[in-house]
Formats: sequence, structure tokens, C-alpha cells
Amino acid sequence: MGDSIVVACGIIFCSTFAKPLLLDYIFFSIVKTNIFRLILLLACTCQAVAQTFPSERLLEDLKTLASVELEGRRTGTQGAVKARLFIQKRFAEIGLKPAFGKSYEQPFWVKNQKEAIEGVNLAGFIAGTKKNKQWIVICAHYDHLGKVGSTVFPGADDNASGVAALLALAEYFTKKPPQHNLLFLTPDAEEMGLKGAKHFLKNLPFPIEQLALHINMDMISRSNKNELFAVGTYHYPVLKKILAQYVAKGFKLSFGHDHPQHPTQDDWSNASDHAPFHQQGIPFVYFGVEDHEDYHQPTDTFERIHPTFFSAVVAGIAECVHLLDQHLNNIHKQKSQHP
Ligand SMILES: [Zn+2]
Repeated sequence: MGDSIVVACGIIFCSTFAKPLLLDYIFFSIVKTNIFRLILLLACTCQAVAQTFPSERLLEDLKTLASVELEGRRTGTQGAVKARLFIQKRFAEIGLKPAFGKSYEQPFWVKNQKEAIEGVNLAGFIAGTKKNKQWIVICAHYDHLGKVGSTVFPGADDNASGVAALLALAEYFTKKPPQHNLLFLTPDAEEMGLKGAKHFLKNLPFPIEQLALHINMDMISRSNKNELFAVGTYHYPVLKKILAQYVAKGFKLSFGHDHPQHPTQDDWSNASDHAPFHQQGIPFVYFGVEDHEDYHQPTDTFERIHPTFFSAVVAGIAECVHLLDQHLNNIHKQKSQHP
């Protein structure tokens, strides 16, 4: 179909504007055909990503996780139990394999001076198509601050957004299997000092030598500047080379927030669940937005997220994960340039 349209266009163009020489015409047809094919290919690629991310489902998942019924998802509360039931139901629907024997659950204890609270990490995985033993951990904490009196802190951006994105990515990669094993981890007790992520790292379901890369998402659903940061490339420059191949659509992907002496930007190298992995020398990419006025406030609600930005960001992160998966051999066991 493409070729005949191009030939028809060529004939119209030639008969209207010039008496063509045969060679000019052939050249014209070839160039136009390839441009047309390229446009078609790009259109199909964009459509494929758009189709794989029905933003309805993505937004619905975020809305459920940030709903009042889940009471702010504080570790050790009924709200956290409800959040876990929901996430595990989605893991099973998507077809993730349980990461801990027959279970998605990894319980642990969070101790403070007065009491011990039970936290529970959740994880499921998709096996890679290559017969290899390397793992990428894709991570988004599900806990938040709970409630004070009757005031709920819904944590829509922090971090219902990351968990909804993780579910969308899991769905995407079950349809487009990765080369390497992808483990989808939603840690508990991030807000209590990254306790869930630290426990997971000490109790990995595979040998640590096989852990090639950690990808963390924490607060990714709103930005007044339409900007998402990919943090960590200062420490692991190879990641920047790979991610630079990705052309962001519908938002701006910026590098930064990982330099300890930067004059204007905070260093986020230890700001969320990627920190313990980074401290163990595991390469990481953390996706996140700048803090906003609703950060850790009861006003961090579903209504305040930016749906178009969020959908574009999740489709973009999927493309980034795909690129990182393809180049994982160059990443695995990279030493931090600035430990
Ligand atoms: Zn968070």
C-alpha cells in the first residue's frame, strides 16, 4: 500500500511541477518510499506503546491505591493489608511468578524503641528469554504515612504512582518478554527508613552476583515543568550512554540530582529505595520528579496528579527498561565512578 501511494504521489508531483527525467523519478520514488516507510514505522511504534499502556488501567490502579479505603498504606496497618491484597491480585492477573517460593510475600520486622511492626515486601518476576542468570529489579514502594486522627495521607504521587507504573510495566513485559529476568518489587516501610528494601537486599531470592541493575520509581505522576529525572548516571556513566538513545515523547527526561556538590540541585542518590543497592555497588536508575507543595501532605491526592504526563512517563520508562535490558552486559558489575 505504501509503495503505490508513493508512486501515485510521485506521478502527481512530476506531472504538476516538472517534466521528469526517468532517473530523477526513480530517485524521487526511492527516497520518498523510505521516508514513507520510516513514518509508518514510527507511527506503528508509537501506537504499539500507546496500546500497551491503556492509561485507563494505569490511572485506575493509582486511584485504587490512593483511595481513602486504603487509609494511607502505613506499614503494619489494615490499610497496608488492603494494599497488599490489591497488589497481589494484580500480580496474579498479570501472570507474574511468585518470587519467594510459592509466595509473593516477604515478611520482616521493623523495630523501634517501643514495639516491633510487621512489614511485608511483595515481589513477582518474569523470566528472561536468554538462558542467563542476570536480574533487573524494578522497584516501587507501596507504603505511605497512614493517617493522623481522621486525616488520611493518600500518597497518590508518593508512591501509588510508582506502584501503578510497576504494574503497567509488568503487564507490558509479559507481552514483550525481556532478555533478562525482571523482578518486580514493591517494598514496604520505605517511609520508616527504607526498611523493606534493606531487608530484601539482605535476603535476595537469587545470589547477589546475579543482580545487575536496580530501577526505582518513587513519585512520577506530576510535574509543573513536565520533567522527569533519571538519577544515578553520575555514578554509573554507562547508563547515561544507554538512556541517551531514548527520545522522550510528551515529557522531558533530564539527568541529574546525583552530584553531591551540585550548586542548585539536591543529591537524591540516597533518597529512596535505590540507596541500599547503590551502597552495595549495584548500578541503579531512580526515576522521580521534583518535590511539590503536596509532598507528604494530606493533599497528595489522585485529583492532583497530571494524567497525561504520568501516562507519557510510564510509556517512556518502559522504553528505557527495554534499552537497559538489551545492554545489560555493559552495565552488570560496573563500578561506581564516584563511590
Ligand atoms: Zn516515596
